[in-house]
Amino acid sequence: VDPAVNTSTIAVIVTSLGGPAARVGIIRLSGPSAVTIVGRVFRPKVKKKKRSASEWRPKSHVIEYGVVSDSHGNVIDEVLVVPMLAPKSYTTEDVLELQCHGTEVCLQRVLRACLEAGARLAEPGEFTLRAFLNGRLDLSQAENVEKLISAKSVAAADAALAGIEGGFSSLVKSLRTRCMELLTEIEARLDFDNEMPPLDLDLLMDKIYRMLHDLANELETANYDKLLQSGLQIAIIGRPNVGKSSLLNAWSKTDRAIVTNIAGTTRDVVEGNVSVRGVPVTLLDTAGIRETDDVVEKIGVERSEDVAKNADVVIMTISAAEGWTLEDTKLLERIQRNQTASGCSSPLILVINKIDRAPSDSYEWVNTCGFSFNKHIPTCAVNGQGIQELEAAIIEIMGLNTIPVSGRRWTVNQRQCEQLIRTNEAFVRLKSSVEEAMPFDFWTIDLREAKMNLRMIDGADLFDRILYSIYLQFKIRK
Ligand code: GDP
Ligand code: ZN
Repeated sequence: VDPAVNTSTIAVIVTSLGGPAARVGIIRLSGPSAVTIVGRVFRPKVKKKKRSASEWRPKSHVIEYGVVSDSHGNVIDEVLVVPMLAPKSYTTEDVLELQCHGTEVCLQRVLRACLEAGARLAEPGEFTLRAFLNGRLDLSQAENVEKLISAKSVAAADAALAGIEGGFSSLVKSLRTRCMELLTEIEARLDFDNEMPPLDLDLLMDKIYRMLHDLANELETANYDKLLQSGLQIAIIGRPNVGKSSLLNAWSKTDRAIVTNIAGTTRDVVEGNVSVRGVPVTLLDTAGIRETDDVVEKIGVERSEDVAKNADVVIMTISAAEGWTLEDTKLLERIQRNQTASGCSSPLILVINKIDRAPSDSYEWVNTCGFSFNKHIPTCAVNGQGIQELEAAIIEIMGLNTIPVSGRRWTVNQRQCEQLIRTNEAFVRLKSSVEEAMPFDFWTIDLREAKMNLRMIDGADLFDRILYSIYLQFKIRK
């Protein structure tokens, strides 16, 4: 932990750089000298001829317009200053934001002026870290800030916002309080059992069941959280000309959700983005897998096999006009052999495309082709028929049907999930200790363990905060 965390003033360009210049860019400062430092570089433009020569004193939450000068007194930008004075700021320290012109030249010059005037360049995530250290956010909320910044879909952003608003934090707090109350009650009986009324065991069990129920609700969101963060990769495979590209196009077109590209998915395959229950889905069209001697095409085939190998779901596409063919068998055998070899087999959906060419709803060969599919869906890629059913199949297979469609709901991340699992285990042990009428000492051991794990979730006291600041710094920087 930086021992100067409460004495240094940090500054950084908080808006993004590198892309095309935005009209406005923002530099943010936080710390006890933020006002003094900005006072050294900023000169407000006031109508009054006579401006007091005394030190610049901004009013909290009142915007000021003026110019920033470098150490030689040259004006380097026109800016708006937004002062948010302690404790009414994100970090609870004095925070000042300088709205500059958005070009990198302006921003870098103004930033340098601030650094020369006494600020230190902030590390990534350091403002959030200060907010956490100063008790403005607990650890779960701080993690959700990072989640929001990296959200790739509306649903992911909503979940992060719900986490920042503190619903999960207050639930954890409530669990901790309930834990402490039970502990007090039982510990009292450790010492003065004879003088106290007997424990109401039904009531106690009821409390334990309620806590287990709350924990189960939270744990249920962990899977969705993972999917919201990482998204799903769905490979569309099949022989040439069965309609894979058409399916991808039709599917992408029906989707009106805002989904940005997921980083690191640039491969030599065609991609489309859709979102299923808010989960960003990348569709991979593995153009034309088949046995071939042609070198170039062979590389293509291998890449396609690779894609299918790493996909979360594989959609095997065939043409209803031709039914199941020997080539389909060969292709799928090859894909499944690869999946078995790599030790991961993803769910398999059979799409029977071109149903407009062979209008029939009996596909008996599905059961005799020698493969088992999680679902088979008849489609017509040229008019989008069956795509809704395909989405429904994915929702069911990936367990997304437990997610409420509307209403903001936070999700628990991997770290929170692990602590919740340990808390849950402690409660389960407590339950059996009570049921088996074990000595009170055993009960208190489990309760203390549960309490400790709950405390680790939000980094409740200062000692935890310092410990977790190290964790948070590491997490943000990686
Ligand atoms: P791919 O090689 O598997 O990607 O197949 P394409 O998507 O390129 O489709 C091959 C041909 O089949 C194109 O002419 C499509 O218009 C046509 N096609 C695709 N899906 C359907 C369908 O559901 N019904 C009909 N009638 N034609 C389709
Ligand atoms: Zn294609």
